[in-house]
Amino acid sequence: MINNSEHCPTSESLACFLSFLCLRRSNFRLTSQIMQMERPCTPLTIDSSNLLLAIPKKGRLHERSVELLNEIGLQFKRTNRSDIAHCVAAPVLLVFLNVVDIPVFVAEGNVDGGIVGQDVISETGQHFAEQQLLGFGRCVLAVQAPMYLHLTCDDLIGKRVVTSYPRLTKRFFASLEIKQRGADVLNREEVETGSASGMTTPSTTVEGYLRTTVVTLSGSVEASVALGLSDAVVDLVETGDTMRMAGLQQIGVIMKTEAAFISNPNTRHQTLLTMIKKRIDGYLTALKYQMVSYNIPLEKLSNASLLTPGLRSPTITNLADSDWISVTAVVERTKVLDTIDQLDALGAQDILTFNFKHFRSGASP
Ligand code: AMP
Repeated sequence: MINNSEHCPTSESLACFLSFLCLRRSNFRLTSQIMQMERPCTPLTIDSSNLLLAIPKKGRLHERSVELLNEIGLQFKRTNRSDIAHCVAAPVLLVFLNVVDIPVFVAEGNVDGGIVGQDVISETGQHFAEQQLLGFGRCVLAVQAPMYLHLTCDDLIGKRVVTSYPRLTKRFFASLEIKQRGADVLNREEVETGSASGMTTPSTTVEGYLRTTVVTLSGSVEASVALGLSDAVVDLVETGDTMRMAGLQQIGVIMKTEAAFISNPNTRHQTLLTMIKKRIDGYLTALKYQMVSYNIPLEKLSNASLLTPGLRSPTITNLADSDWISVTAVVERTKVLDTIDQLDALGAQDILTFNFKHFRSGASP
């Protein structure tokens, strides 16, 4: 348990919290750091039986992460937008962090697991053997250039690109540059004509090769083209609205991304972590299916079973009328309406569907 003094001001709570994150692995009492504060608050005492989960503190992944936690029984009460919250019914402490910091905290073992976008994982260069995809936050990390110029990604070699993803962007353009090095005569020509094309003057290496300049901004990168800071941007595109409003179009995709659950393999809370992963898996699987139930004349049962085989087999129940039988089976959500039409054509009656929230196959994850 973490006990903050009731009277501890927010800034002091935050300072305590940050100290706690830094020292958690080796030290379970933070007395010395807290003593140095202007107005000391009660030392944080960490109950090591808590599993720590990092959640994006804001942004597109925040709401959906909270929704997922609620659905898998990790409800919590967060007071005064505090950066930590205890789960009500499980020994889990949620830590609300900037999304870009989450892979490092998980990889270093300062927290046991977390929810983060695959784009951020790749940008930080961390590697997680297992990434449980969560089905939300889906978008692409895309190269975007002014609509009216009709550029390709190759046209941006030697130009200036603004992004919040410098590592991935540099790697992407470095591979294009390497491919283009065979044609350095052409590149030199571009150096001479580049500024006449409405774009920034190309930069070159000492050998005369074109090299893309990647400028890092923390946000609002789309505006940088209109403001003359860049020729193109690399940023996430979900609906494309932000891109179009900035007069840009997508000319290349660096990666597809979605939210993922990651964990530290050396966690001391393996049992609890496995349970959380199973619950996530069960919840996501349940979203993919619906239960379909119907009554069918007995002689049509085998044909009906072919239409609704279920995951293992359909559940068959006798009815008081022995000429009829009741069938229940899970059906993929995208196929439910077609299946109903086919069952109807076969002579099924009283067809109904219902949602279920959790699914556990019983097989190990
Ligand atoms: P949209 O207008 O829907 O294409 O969204 C684009 C804007 O939202 C850009 O500023 C992106 O940085 C941001 N964005 C889109 N999808 C995500 C995501 N999954 N996670 C974080 N930011 C996102």
